[in-house]
Amino acid sequence: MARSIISAGRFCLLLGLGLVVATITRAEPPDAASAPKPSDAPQSPRPIPFIDVHVHAFSIKEGGLEDVAKWMADRNVERCIVSPLNHKGSRAYTEEERATLLANFAKYKGRIDRMCLIEPGDFDTVDAAVERLQREIRDGAIAMGEHYGRDMMFDDPKNLLIYAACEKVGLPVMFHIDENKNMVEKGMARVDRVLDMYPKCNLIAHAYWWRQLKDADRQLQQHPNLYADLSGHVVFDVLNRDRDFARAFCIRNQDKLLFGTDEGWWSFNDRKRQMNTHYTFFDELNLPDDVRYKIYRGNAEKLFGFKAEKN
Ligand SMILES: [Zn+2]
Repeated sequence: MARSIISAGRFCLLLGLGLVVATITRAEPPDAASAPKPSDAPQSPRPIPFIDVHVHAFSIKEGGLEDVAKWMADRNVERCIVSPLNHKGSRAYTEEERATLLANFAKYKGRIDRMCLIEPGDFDTVDAAVERLQREIRDGAIAMGEHYGRDMMFDDPKNLLIYAACEKVGLPVMFHIDENKNMVEKGMARVDRVLDMYPKCNLIAHAYWWRQLKDADRQLQQHPNLYADLSGHVVFDVLNRDRDFARAFCIRNQDKLLFGTDEGWWSFNDRKRQMNTHYTFFDELNLPDDVRYKIYRGNAEKLFGFKAEKN
């Protein structure tokens, strides 16, 4: 975000003529001015290549990940995780589409990973869902999402079936909350309930979960199986209100936050439509280097086992 600061001007009072001339000068850039204050003039920290856990691509189209790879090179993203939506370009509905999808990801193995998607009502039993998820795991899926729970409460029985199945197979679930998806009331008790019911299922919070920041903070502290991704406009809107709080929040939850943008096929080729604040916001909080490392990639490496895979 451009930060133009109008400094207090120097007043030049010419008594003889009775004229007052106010000179308004722009602030010098931080590195040229006197020592910067930590809160408003951060130094540029050492760049850390991102792992972005939240992007969407046309995964079932031939060459559908090429735009993703271009965007990664442009934005210092070393690895990313693509999640399907209930959308004909991003989720495979037929075996033919699935074959194209798998071929796309095979080409970018170790750089672009994928989540799989099962939706409420897709399966009548946990066992049937488990069978499907096991196939997805064999074919490289590393998480389940983006879980929308459209027109349902967060802990609707159809959603619980998904959490039960994902817990059984060990897949983290990335969920979206808004006014008509995975709905919650003030305090988000339904999220607490699911976290307690499936303690071995790791959940990754996204979207309006962030709007209830006090409870979001509490839940991250309280539940070992809860993570949060930093993607989407809502995260910047909420955290940018008070950067001192945001800094303390990031330090307090340094083992639970996952860098993400929510870029997609609508934005990969258009920088103007990208989440421009995201790539710099956390640098601007002047976080300790080890905290930045964890948030930008370390937590994702651990949660998704990326390091073990490389060895
Ligand atoms: Zn998304």
